[in-house]
Amino acid sequence: MATIAERLIEAHKRIANAAALNHRPMNSITLMAVSKTKPAAMVQEAYAAGARHFGENYLQEGIEKIQHLPELTEATWHFIGPIQSNKSRPIAEHFDWVHTLDRFKIAQRLNEQRPAHSPPLNVCIQVNISQEMSKSGVAPEQLLPLAEAISALPQLRLRGLMAIPAATEDLHQQRASFAALRQLFDTLQSHYPSLDTLSMGMSDDMEAAIAEGSTMVRIGSAIFGSRI
Ligand SMILES: *Cc1c(COP(=O)(O)O)cnc(C)c1O
Repeated sequence: MATIAERLIEAHKRIANAAALNHRPMNSITLMAVSKTKPAAMVQEAYAAGARHFGENYLQEGIEKIQHLPELTEATWHFIGPIQSNKSRPIAEHFDWVHTLDRFKIAQRLNEQRPAHSPPLNVCIQVNISQEMSKSGVAPEQLLPLAEAISALPQLRLRGLMAIPAATEDLHQQRASFAALRQLFDTLQSHYPSLDTLSMGMSDDMEAAIAEGSTMVRIGSAIFGSRI
């Protein structure tokens, strides 16, 4: 069994290879280590091996880790799970980024609840790119009005888009979904030039995501091992 440090090196190699294949600089892609369901000790281990961005899906679990790991002073914490509107306050208070914003009501709450002494909360709008009934995310046609409303909120900083496409092993299908998100991103960026984040790609499809322009890959099992 490889160590977390070894698997982190391996993940960086996959990113570097995909970047080189697509003539992109390696430093245009940020690795987020998705530590959901894994203990704080494993987050510490990844931090010691150089990881700086951590993604959490479950609010209570994520906050416990953040509070137990104050010594990770250079860590950036990303909330990447579904947001219940009555649970938005702890997200606004503890996290640096939210990738799963898809409703204006939640954006308003996060904006009001973000502490005044904290920098604006970085947010990505989640898009339902595969148009699945069960998945969260805005429909592509609702994206522009939502982005416009969010960009007016002073305690939020709109950074870009995120998607979790329908799982498939077909590389062409993977690329088609990521290409669709990329196209929406390009359109949005023409209205909001400061957008810089395309949050797409996980352990099994990061190559396709990087080929289509991902700037942040969210890698869980390839670093921390499979989740039961
Ligand atoms: C769990 C999760 C990941 C990481 O998935 P892996 O396949 O383990 O790399 C990335 N993004 C989101 C939103 C997740 O829920």
